[in-house]
Amino acid sequence: MKKPIIFCDFDGTVTDNDNIISLMKQFAPPEWVPIKDRVLNQTITIQDGVSRMFSLIESDKKKEMIHFLKKTAAIREGFQEFLEFAENRSIPFYIVSGGMDFFVEPLLDPYGPIKEIYCNQASFKGEFVEIKWPYPCDKECQNGCGCCKPTIIRSLSREEHFTIVIGDSITDLEAAKQADLVLARDFLSKACEKQGIRYIPFETFFDCRAILEQNLEVV
Ligand SMILES: [Mg+2]
Ligand SMILES: [Zn+2]
Repeated sequence: MKKPIIFCDFDGTVTDNDNIISLMKQFAPPEWVPIKDRVLNQTITIQDGVSRMFSLIESDKKKEMIHFLKKTAAIREGFQEFLEFAENRSIPFYIVSGGMDFFVEPLLDPYGPIKEIYCNQASFKGEFVEIKWPYPCDKECQNGCGCCKPTIIRSLSREEHFTIVIGDSITDLEAAKQADLVLARDFLSKACEKQGIRYIPFETFFDCRAILEQNLEVV
């Protein structure tokens, strides 16, 4: 019998919306838009684009940004119940996020248990926000992911694991390719369809719990 292990995205998965986009709309000058477009049409890497977008925001906005997201970011329904379900089944739950520590950690603080949070780091020491990348791509990934989800999964997964990936966007696609079970919504579900990757759609974490209850019995 294989041991389930969960890797869950944060922006657009745990939260309803993408927090980087919310922050840019609220705090960045309009120059962030063409940078975002270049990330989306893949003429620059995610890592490069996100660095450039945050470098448009002054460091002294830190508190205001955290306050803004705490007030506006909605956590998807059933998240705490899902964490408790995983805990009861002794399934380790990891967050793998392309977001930044200064908002991922405070937004997740009321919830648990979470085995580990993998995300990027923001430095507010200079005049403008600087992003640090503690989890870069390994030799097997050339995408410039910033926070490389496939690399993290490779480093934590063992032969005996049944790897579950939960996500919503294109940045979860490479991770989904390595998973034994994919729970997908939004762009990720469309991408999986195009690439012929088997997935199960979800909207809330209550759906995720029901999906695991059904699918783990046969593992
Ligand atoms: Mg996401
Ligand atoms: Zn990568």
